[in-house]
Amino acid sequence: MRILIIEDEAEIVRFLTLELEHEGYQTASCANGRGGLELALTGEYDLVLLDVMLPELNGIEVLRRLRKESGVPVILVTARDAVMEKVNGLDTGANDYITKPFHIEELLARIRMVLRTADPAAQGTQGDALSLGDLVVAPSSRQVTRGGERVDLTKTQYDLLEYLLRNRDIVLTRDQILNHVWGYSYAGSSNVVDVYVRYVRNRIRDTDENRIIETVRGIGYVIRDKTRQE
Ligand code: CA
Repeated sequence: MRILIIEDEAEIVRFLTLELEHEGYQTASCANGRGGLELALTGEYDLVLLDVMLPELNGIEVLRRLRKESGVPVILVTARDAVMEKVNGLDTGANDYITKPFHIEELLARIRMVLRTADPAAQGTQGDALSLGDLVVAPSSRQVTRGGERVDLTKTQYDLLEYLLRNRDIVLTRDQILNHVWGYSYAGSSNVVDVYVRYVRNRIRDTDENRIIETVRGIGYVIRDKTRQE
């Protein structure tokens, strides 16, 4: 597995190179956005760690240009509390993000998760059914069961749940959910997403003790597969 580090702080590059190579990854690095984009476009890397604040081209712009040609997994490295950076990054096609300063263990876990999710053979799907614990969703019949009991959902509620489940471990912004489930032509407020998440949580008996749909404050929602977490 080859990881490209696009980061202008030499200290961080040195640290990441050491830690990632210790874990058995091969690495390369670039200290500016323009050069980093060129390297990422070679298709030689399995994953890109992309800093947002970069000289020449910032990380969001690098990602925007990269996504026109490549689906290579990208983890965005953002400044603390930079909520708009995270939202823009996820909307632009980042697979995940991590906030500076971070613990190397957290970064390694995110790298493993993104690499696993990016590999279609590693998706947790069995035949047609999408399942998570005792929640089973069957896309062909659009039937949902929890603990073997049938759950009745409206069309929109079902679409929302299936979209979150298909993108497990990936934080989805309200805009991404809105565009996917309601369509780009939808003119209403993105509050509708919060309202529908509440409906779906009630229907699938998603409670605090056993939370399936997690809220990511200021950004959106994610379904995490806790059984797979290290
Ligand atoms: Ca930087």
